[in-house]
Amino acid sequence: MAPVESRAIVLRSYKLGETSKLVVCYTREYGKLRLVAKGGRKGGGRFGAALEPLMVSRVVFYLKEGRGLSLLSGAEIEREFPSMRRDVVRMAYGSAVLELVDRLVHERECDRGLFDCMERSLAEVEQADEEQLDDVLWRFELNLAAALGYSPELSVCVQCGSADGRLAGFSSTLGGLVCARCAASGSGVALTTVSIAEVLRLIAADVRSGSTSGVGVRLTRAERDDVTRVLHEFLEEQGGHRLRIKSMDFLAQIRRLDGAGTKTGQDNG
Ligand SMILES: [Zn+2]
Repeated sequence: MAPVESRAIVLRSYKLGETSKLVVCYTREYGKLRLVAKGGRKGGGRFGAALEPLMVSRVVFYLKEGRGLSLLSGAEIEREFPSMRRDVVRMAYGSAVLELVDRLVHERECDRGLFDCMERSLAEVEQADEEQLDDVLWRFELNLAAALGYSPELSVCVQCGSADGRLAGFSSTLGGLVCARCAASGSGVALTTVSIAEVLRLIAADVRSGSTSGVGVRLTRAERDDVTRVLHEFLEEQGGHRLRIKSMDFLAQIRRLDGAGTKTGQDNG
């Protein structure tokens, strides 16, 4: 069997036996794969770093048919994101991208567009101003939802189809915004402010046009958290299982500590 190669983004890795490593990565050519790196824990070196999360590497491996583990024979770093590795906030956003793909994407489903979108999003996390990082993640989440075949309905009420009036709630189960009347009669949850609906539409418009300028609306931390919560609940519901994005929990903790220290936090909980 001849080895194959692909660009790959390492999602996570853990130890396997005494000396080996199991590496879960999203490859451009073969989708999500589990690779065994024999002796991958010995020493450090270039090979070791190429198997760390948040690296874009070129991997060479013996592809195992079905769902089995493939054997890695070579790995070389193609692109790294030094700011993300230095800055704990950026790292949390980059890790959220990896965690979402790890949780929601099935193994062995090739989607080069999704790979390119992941790489682009990591590059944006690396370079964007800190206040733009939420926008980067929101765009990635809508791109991921589209790649998985379940984009939310954001133009009309997903319950009654009405395009009139304010879309004042969001239903993760039905998969989109609901009008004030449907929200009042128990469909979905009411949004903190109506502007959240508008923000969701602006993110979707950015995703369609490929713009990276961000929603351009000043939002409080609580409103930002609301957008994030709505998108996560949606992905969770449509993806069919509980999503716990550890990096986002970690970020929320840092923000709570920051808020407690400086009294500038918007946190209500
Ligand atoms: Zn309605």
